[in-house]
Amino acid sequence: MTVSTDLKVYQNLINGELRGAIGDEKIDCIDPSTGRVWAYIPQSTEEDAVLAVNAAKSAFPAWKKAKAEDRAAALRKVAELIGEHGDALAALETQDTGWVIRETTYGLIPVLQQIWFNAAAGALGANRGQTVPVTATSLGYTLREPYGVVVGITPWNAPLFTLSIKAANAMAAGNTVIIKPSEHASSASLYFAELVKDIFPPGVFNVISGYGADIGDTLTSHPDVNKISLTGSSRTAATIARATADKPKPLILELGGKSANIIFQDADIDAVADAISTYSIFSGNSGQICVGSSRLLVHRSIFDKVAEAVVLRLKNPAYKTYGPTLDPTTTTGPIANKSQYDIVRNYIQVGLDEGAELLFGGRSGGAEVAPGHSDLAEGYWIEPTLLKAESNTLRICQEEIFGPVAVMIPFDTEEQALSLANGTEFGLAAGVWTKDLSLAHRMVSAIEAGNVWVNTYARVGPEMPFSGVKSSGFGTDSIEDYCREKSCVIEL
Ligand code: NAD
Repeated sequence: MTVSTDLKVYQNLINGELRGAIGDEKIDCIDPSTGRVWAYIPQSTEEDAVLAVNAAKSAFPAWKKAKAEDRAAALRKVAELIGEHGDALAALETQDTGWVIRETTYGLIPVLQQIWFNAAAGALGANRGQTVPVTATSLGYTLREPYGVVVGITPWNAPLFTLSIKAANAMAAGNTVIIKPSEHASSASLYFAELVKDIFPPGVFNVISGYGADIGDTLTSHPDVNKISLTGSSRTAATIARATADKPKPLILELGGKSANIIFQDADIDAVADAISTYSIFSGNSGQICVGSSRLLVHRSIFDKVAEAVVLRLKNPAYKTYGPTLDPTTTTGPIANKSQYDIVRNYIQVGLDEGAELLFGGRSGGAEVAPGHSDLAEGYWIEPTLLKAESNTLRICQEEIFGPVAVMIPFDTEEQALSLANGTEFGLAAGVWTKDLSLAHRMVSAIEAGNVWVNTYARVGPEMPFSGVKSSGFGTDSIEDYCREKSCVIEL
């Protein structure tokens, strides 16, 4: 590969040192809004992965023994640095993923990162075992202990968000960490590593970029790796489960979804339409959100009104503008990489071939979606696309698309809504829109999903647990899940 000397080359952080991959191979960073290469990241090898595991293993005993307040102080320092370098982190996240700067800067990436690191530091004090009077003459107690080396594997849609949840909680609990970001979006994670490198003793926090196919197996099946947390696809989860089948390891799996937004006849249609057209699916990163409400189950009596309200907003430049992603007036970004662009375009065609009705959108390509911006002509742009289907069995209603595509499906009764909502293999999230509290509680209790929001959507933060059910995974990236509980009974 010819590497332009004008472009930045990011480096891995291994054992406290910034270094290129052994052999110095690199992967292009492509800005999805333009389709152009703008930087490089290391294409790490199995040997790099082994170096990272060795470093994390050597650093573990001292980090485990470090006082909780020292670990908390280190995490708070990270939060401070994120605040100081928030603009740069947000810009890199935008260039990596296409997620528009107005969302990565204003409120999202730096703030959330700070929240996760501060929250993990704050939660440390409460991370204690319990004392149990087993019998009158024996006392039991438990110790909450870190696992050892944790490998955190992150996806391309929200690299810094997922890095922060995993690293903050795992390190707070006393584990050492290796983060493996997606080959499609690693620069922000590597820059983050550069920023915080001197805060932790060497080997406590490592970041290594590369293809999953090159280094994934080494990182997950290495005998010195004690726990794995993947945020990614069900396909990768299955590969990791197979790679670790002979010597099973505890896994946290944060996987995909086919989440339903269920809109009852008494819902506030403006609030629903605002959510759909700005954050629940047609978001600033074009629906590439794991909890994206890709199925809109709408009571038949208000179906047309909801469709009309959403389409009005999608046509309105106050809601949707397509332009340079680093321009704060742009509201909606492209698809994050070429392979996902091809997948989403194909799904739109599959939906139309299956008989779904196109209510809005469907166009793709920079020239079509962002006309007037010649720089964006080669970018991976897809218009927000709203489809209508009468049946939940279509592929577009069953398979995760992971893009700006939502299917509206009408329902007549509460039972039908529930059966549609639960009628996929996934169980990540759901939204319920109604003013009827009893109905809302019945739905929350009966929906098969790890997260349900009522009259809002995608409310994720350290104050509430977050995980999936069914094929959406299990486990939470929490301080509790990064500890194991050892029990001891003493005869008095
Ligand atoms: P992906 O599974 O293709 O890749 C995720 C990560 O796994 C990448 O870093 C990749 O390099 C790595 N990987 C690939 N093969 C590997 C292997 N054999 N061993 C170890 N690691 C390997 O997922 P993606 O396309 O990057 O992300 C999109 C998916 O992530 C969607 O399904 C989305 O729903 C899901 N996601 C889930 C959540 C959640 O919290 N539940 C959040 C964000 C994204």
